[in-house]
Amino acid sequence: MKLKGAILILSGPSGAGKSSLYKRLAQEFPDHYFSISSTTRQKREGEIDGVHYNFISKEDFEAGVNKGEFLEWAKVHDNYYGTSKAQVINALEEDKLVVFDIDVQGQANLKQTFPRHTTSVFITTPNRNILQERLGGRGSDMNNVIQKRLENALDEVRSLANYDYLIINENLEEAASKLLCIARSAFCKVSLYEMESFLQNWKK
Ligand code: ADP
Ligand code: 5GP
Repeated sequence: MKLKGAILILSGPSGAGKSSLYKRLAQEFPDHYFSISSTTRQKREGEIDGVHYNFISKEDFEAGVNKGEFLEWAKVHDNYYGTSKAQVINALEEDKLVVFDIDVQGQANLKQTFPRHTTSVFITTPNRNILQERLGGRGSDMNNVIQKRLENALDEVRSLANYDYLIINENLEEAASKLLCIARSAFCKVSLYEMESFLQNWKK
């Protein structure tokens, strides 16, 4: 499989600001593809099927798993989430930056599948209290859902050593500008190049 694009993974506790930062990145980096995951979780107010996620039933999710349609999938906060294979491979072949908002399990799997292409960023709040405030302030989840996400947050933060970059999202503008720099650098990684063909081309 000869892929040319680059992979940028955003992970971090729910409420840390991944979607907000992705929105900023999308404005500045038009030539990218956002990997739309499939999920069995309930749609939040304001979310659009096919834009934020493909919202599907547990039965359809399991059928997708059995047919090998996912590059990776995981159970996160009691719901299933999976990355669709075909669109991601297409986008990489088109030399795009492919952006993922996936959890720590998904990051580990993708890093193993695409070690040369992957750049990963862990996004978090400065502390747990701020995370709690943001989850409450977002106003999109029930209290028990927020509680579950807070409980899982510490375990997620413990995985940050497996990432290339850390963004502490205190000030949104500053964090967005750091993410843009990382996205640009993701395309400059030596590991994206196949050395033999690079050298053949260079010495012509
Ligand atoms: P995630 O996608 O990681 O779950 P969101 O992007 O939905 O997180 O952000 C959670 C909430 O925090 C939203 O209400 C968002 O507007 C707010 N938020 C994000 N970044 C900041 C920031 N730097 N300062 C204050 N509020 C923020
Ligand atoms: P949310 O329900 O807040 O949108 O997402 C919950 C968690 O699931 C977040 O950590 C998000 O990054 C993760 N997630 C979303 N899509 C996928 C996916 O396709 N695979 C994996 N492994 N995690 C995902």
